[in-house]
Amino acid sequence: MRYPATPTSIFPQVPQPIRLSAFALLTIGLLSACAAIAPPQPNPAIDPIRFLLSFDDGPSASPDNNPTEQILDSLADNPIQPGIKALFFVQTRATRAGGSPQGQALLRRQQREGHLLGFHTATPGHANHRFLDPAVLKQSLKDGVADLTAISGTAPRLVRPPFWNYDARTFAADQTHGLRLLLTDLSANDGKTWGINGSLRRRSNLRDQLALAAQQINVGALPTVDGVIPVVVTFHDLNTYTARHMQEYLQILLDVAAEVGLATDKQPFYGHRDALQRAALKRALGDPLQYARLPGLWNWLWN
Ligand SMILES: [Zn+2]
Repeated sequence: MRYPATPTSIFPQVPQPIRLSAFALLTIGLLSACAAIAPPQPNPAIDPIRFLLSFDDGPSASPDNNPTEQILDSLADNPIQPGIKALFFVQTRATRAGGSPQGQALLRRQQREGHLLGFHTATPGHANHRFLDPAVLKQSLKDGVADLTAISGTAPRLVRPPFWNYDARTFAADQTHGLRLLLTDLSANDGKTWGINGSLRRRSNLRDQLALAAQQINVGALPTVDGVIPVVVTFHDLNTYTARHMQEYLQILLDVAAEVGLATDKQPFYGHRDALQRAALKRALGDPLQYARLPGLWNWLWN
């Protein structure tokens, strides 16, 4: 017996009982596929997260299409949360960064617009603190603290070492100069500023790293500060790709939080410098000898 095929039928030549069973199987298959990919639901007993955005290496000395400037514009004005405040770990004397007139003007703009300045370098280049002679490291810390104090009116409290590299000696030197060391939970892996600087895997990279942070959050290993759990994210503001895609990155962070089952606060990014500093200080590294997860291959390289 033949059943007439209808234009909408997907099984035109198949008897109806078999069609119905096939349809049921297809439905069950689709439902189980949906169940398999359905994101985990946030645990209401766990505080919401708030992303603490940090940027390393700037501010850019570029006179045209300045990436630091683009990032400041995006943070100030975007459809997700206008007026986002970030933590900039700056190079106060590097010729391609704060050592230029453009860089100096941008440091002042960052301060004026309510962002927080932290120390990265005060050497002419992006020097690894561990490879500096103790006297040179000491001088660079003194210079950096003085440079940042002159801009912000208060001494900086936070440091992020170039290449995520530190040891007990550099950690102690930082502390002597009033600086606490902040690592990161997520890195956009955008530190390469030459050649191809985009990342096709930026969404999955951030999701994978946030999934690891979620494991820590779910066992209560990350602290709550002011009612939210700060999650530190690192970008590089000298990266022109990052600068052009900043708004997209903000949305990606919200998306991947939902995907790994973390609730974001109604204010998903920091909007006040003081709150941001409190959160960053709480997340600062307490012990230089304790194992810390570094982004990318840095643990492999330094250990
Ligand atoms: Zn750096």
